[in-house]
Amino acid sequence: MDKLRQAAVAPQKLFLDGTWQAAEGAPLDVVSPIDGSVLTTIEGASAADVGRAVASARAAFEDGRWSRLAPAARKKVMHAIADRIEAEALELAVLGVRDNGTEFNMAYKAEPGSAAGTFRYYAEAIDKVAGEIAPTAPDVLGLVHRVPVGVVGAIVPWNFPLMIGAWKLAPALAMGNSVVLKPAETASLTLLRLARICSDCGLPDGVLNVVTGTGAETGAALAHSTDVDVLTFTGSGATGRRLLEASAASNLKRVYLELGGKSPNIVFADDPDLAQAAKVSAMGIFRNSGQVCVAGSRLLVERAVHDDFVAMLTEQAEALQVGDPLDLRSQIGAVNSEDQLRRNLSFMDMARAEGGHIVTGGARILGDTGGTYMAPTVVTRVTPDATLFQREVFGPVLAVTPFDTEEEALRLANATEFGLAAAVWTGNLSRAHRMVAGIRAGVVHVNTYGGADMTVPLGGVKQSGNGHDKSLHALDKYVDLKTAWIQL
Ligand code: NAD
Repeated sequence: MDKLRQAAVAPQKLFLDGTWQAAEGAPLDVVSPIDGSVLTTIEGASAADVGRAVASARAAFEDGRWSRLAPAARKKVMHAIADRIEAEALELAVLGVRDNGTEFNMAYKAEPGSAAGTFRYYAEAIDKVAGEIAPTAPDVLGLVHRVPVGVVGAIVPWNFPLMIGAWKLAPALAMGNSVVLKPAETASLTLLRLARICSDCGLPDGVLNVVTGTGAETGAALAHSTDVDVLTFTGSGATGRRLLEASAASNLKRVYLELGGKSPNIVFADDPDLAQAAKVSAMGIFRNSGQVCVAGSRLLVERAVHDDFVAMLTEQAEALQVGDPLDLRSQIGAVNSEDQLRRNLSFMDMARAEGGHIVTGGARILGDTGGTYMAPTVVTRVTPDATLFQREVFGPVLAVTPFDTEEEALRLANATEFGLAAAVWTGNLSRAHRMVAGIRAGVVHVNTYGGADMTVPLGGVKQSGNGHDKSLHALDKYVDLKTAWIQL
């Protein structure tokens, strides 16, 4: 580990048409959130660079080097990619942590672990999903083919780049598409390494291109391309809106958005193990410094147990070891960037101004390291109209609001523009089912928080987005349905 954390990282290039190429634009520094040091540089792809990447993906798609390969052959390559990710898991995890600051213990499982599992899952699916024969009159044969869409543009965020990147890449490649991938500017390194792995494992040149750079230039160029057929995105709602505008202004490409959340974690007094609920709830918000789209960032707690539960949760928050994410004793690592930390702290000012009470945390810590760290934070007296109730921080900040009845809990749960995740803690099975039915969210956990695996979809409703990653359903985003109507 020590050797890996100190290893020099060479300046990175774009991965275009199977080769490493310089961009037209100026390179960007990669700053490690662990200590503020400059790790290396990444290229800043211009619109022309993105155009070259899209042209390469299109040419690869049209000549069939991947799109028309036998399913078994594609499957073999994708399994090889999964094997290589597993073989390089330690290097990938350390590189990713140096780049984005997630605590190693979580990053190792969530990043290479999950990416390998994702490639394996969709590799297995390739020869198990088929088209349809329609129930037509006997003199007609109606065939519904599932055909690849062509060129997929994938734009991903920095919180779990390898995992979320794989959630887009693997199903798109499995269905025979070509991809142009745009990582976040503060977490590109592992996805560039993944491009190398894919190439080494036999993915033909041009089928995957990786363009690094800013959202405003590189991302926007991809979004505006008239030769990208589907855009698949995870990130903020503000960017999601821009992508829809870009689609409207260019070629009406399909746009799948996985956006933010302000997910309610609802604790009823009848929960039989409140201590366990407090422990799991603490990790449900604080892991990866709260930079988790499904983080349980709003605690709704029945008034009868409010004070006791807040005390237990605060104890958990204060016991968490925050620090160098590559120190195995650290339970929480660094905030991704100086910008993000500043944004988190601005929410603290707003919370105070709006009557919130910061029970613990609320401040930058470990400033002498040069890194970006924030103490796990619990804020009580957060009213439904408060900024902290309504807006996503994407930091280690828990907003607490009491309720008195199940009806009120449900009303509060649904009282934001988001609908990504939720949790309900109760010993009452009927109540659990009623809450699952009533909460408008893509995933509702019962007596747990997080942990849903590849077998189930992840996606939101309302302004949390319109597409789902993971599970067999994700394949549908990367195919078109084509009917053959044959007179017999
Ligand atoms: P962001 O929207 O700023 O950036 C995400 C990606 O979009 C980056 O690659 C960025 O470069 C690119 N981008 C930015 N502006 C762009 C533009 N104008 N055109 C094209 N691309 C552009 O989001 P972020 O700060 O990187 O990520 C945090 C957000 O992502 C949070 O809101 C979080 O909730 C959300 N998120 C959602 C999920 C989910 O599954 N729903 C998962 C993780 C993160």
